Amino acid sequence: MSATDRTPSAEADVCVVGAGPAGALVARELAREGHEVVVLEAGPRFEDADREARMERTIRPAYAPDSVWKMGGPRDAYRSTGDRHYPLNAARVKGVGGSTLHWQGMVMRLHESDFRRASESGYGVDWPLSYEDLRPYYARAERALGVAGASDNPFAPPREEPHPLPAFEPSYSDALFAEACERVGVTTHSVPNARNSEPYDGRSPCVGYGTCKPVCPSGAKYDASHTVRQAEALGVEVIDRAPVQRLETGSDPGRVEAAVYATPDGTEHRQTAREFVLAAGGVEIPRLLLLSASPDHPDGLANRSGAVGRYFHDHLFAGMGGTLDRRTRQNHVGFLTSESHAFYDEPGRSTTGTAGGVPASDAALSAFKLEFLNYAGPSPVEMALSADDWGDSLLASLRGAYGTHVGMGGLVEQPPRAANRIALDRSTTDDHGNPVPDVQWSLDGRTRRTLERVNEVQAVVLEELGVDVDWRVGPENTGPAFHHMGTTRMGTDPDESVVRPDLRTHDVGNLRVASSAVFPTGGATNPTLTIAALALKCADHVAAALEPSASATG
Ligand SMILES: Cc1cc2nc3c(=O)[nH]c(=O)nc-3n(C[C@H](O)[C@H](O)[C@H](O)COP(=O)(O)OP(=O)(O)OC[C@H]3O[C@@H](n4cnc5c(N)ncnc54)[C@H](O)[C@@H]3O)c2cc1C
Ligand code: SF4
Repeated sequence: MSATDRTPSAEADVCVVGAGPAGALVARELAREGHEVVVLEAGPRFEDADREARMERTIRPAYAPDSVWKMGGPRDAYRSTGDRHYPLNAARVKGVGGSTLHWQGMVMRLHESDFRRASESGYGVDWPLSYEDLRPYYARAERALGVAGASDNPFAPPREEPHPLPAFEPSYSDALFAEACERVGVTTHSVPNARNSEPYDGRSPCVGYGTCKPVCPSGAKYDASHTVRQAEALGVEVIDRAPVQRLETGSDPGRVEAAVYATPDGTEHRQTAREFVLAAGGVEIPRLLLLSASPDHPDGLANRSGAVGRYFHDHLFAGMGGTLDRRTRQNHVGFLTSESHAFYDEPGRSTTGTAGGVPASDAALSAFKLEFLNYAGPSPVEMALSADDWGDSLLASLRGAYGTHVGMGGLVEQPPRAANRIALDRSTTDDHGNPVPDVQWSLDGRTRRTLERVNEVQAVVLEELGVDVDWRVGPENTGPAFHHMGTTRMGTDPDESVVRPDLRTHDVGNLRVASSAVFPTGGATNPTLTIAALALKCADHVAAALEPSASATG
């Protein structure tokens, strides 16, 4: 097939919708097993050769961040009607590689407690899987993404094998933080990163451009276009600029017959296959199921429970920072090298160090982690490009103003609630005439309290470090971390959930979901390693369903 041939594949065993990390991994694994796979991707291919030019854009104030990967416009129209505005077009990329083109690349496993959230903590729900069930897939996912890490996190779940790549050294300001944290009894440790600390899997090591989010020009940061290339080398057909409009069932309402997709020339095609995998991200997956309503499925496909689109949750950001009376060398490293899970499983715990500690809290809280930023304050380039002076005067002002900033971040778990949801807004349509997603999102009391608690801990650390605090992000001005979870939740009860533990939808025999959309709860870790682990598990189940002996693809 040529790059411009967007006609359906005649012999597909499997049709995958979406070419982000989930779709790419499912496609690659099934191709390795010898299956014919076609991937339909709504967005375009981006040339690797253009990445340096994209990087140039990221550092020039004239360009909006969204323009780097062409996010937004009628194609990506949406509404946000909840109590909180949700900036959806900053939160995802449509194109071959998906949102990992733009992502930061922090990749850690969920904690064991995350899988037993209701039983252990009394809020949210339990997963129908345990950490032990996912553990071998986590190890495979770390190899697939190329994770640089050290086994130095005393709060992380058990693992037998080291990460595939050695961890990055802690940054200079991490070392300042580590000392202050130790004095107040807060343990710090490394961040597992999906970026090469040494050559790996045909990609070069990190060379320190520092523009990882939204673009890594060297390819050292993992993005899913890498897995797509591996999949294509194994024979997978990837059709770009082919947004799926709806899924159609045929004479058997319990099976998908075809994915109907549009192409840039205005035609629609039907891709048939034996098995279908939705990997279009946590917002577009429920939207596509709702858009696939038919007389046999009046409330949308796979929506007998009414849960499609509901329980939408994200991680919330809490942060604090300011300036120190010494150099902090910010913006020399474009990613995070240290963090702390010290409060993850016991968010209300106290700590004791040689110089005091964090007081206990008996409020009902959810999980959170602490992050130490390496890009607090403006970079010299950003300052220079937006300055009004020139020459020696500019140099002097840069020397005076740059380099003393320091900051902490944090990610807070948001308990899933049915009222937070992705619905269809029928008053507005996208460039193909489909109702756009309506993001209905609000914060609950537990999340607000946890954001306050994160600020409380951050204030103790920053005070010990001697920081003159000049910014704070708490419950009143928080925002999402751009992790779309929960909208086709996994469970054993078909009245409460959309997919089974084997990631097949309860209602439709040949339809599976590979995405954080299936997370019953999200913990406080970044989701993509778990997405990758579940995608590998999904591929195993699809392969089993394709076995000649498998009767009705159960
Ligand atoms: C700024 C930012 C920073 C982030 N940092 C981190 C981080 O540090 N760590 C982490 O774990 N996660 C991070 N994430 C989240 C991470 O990018 C996502 O979790 C991950 O990419 C999701 O993978 P996915 O394959 O499920 O979906 P996506 O990567 O979103 O891919 C879905 C693909 O499906 C396509 N698609 C959508 N609708 C259709 C349709 N109808 N037809 C065909 N194709 C369709 C889309 O175009 C897209 O390419 C970050 C995200 C952002 C935006
Ligand atoms: S710092 Fe490393 S990972 Fe980030 S953009 Fe530069 S080369 Fe890529």
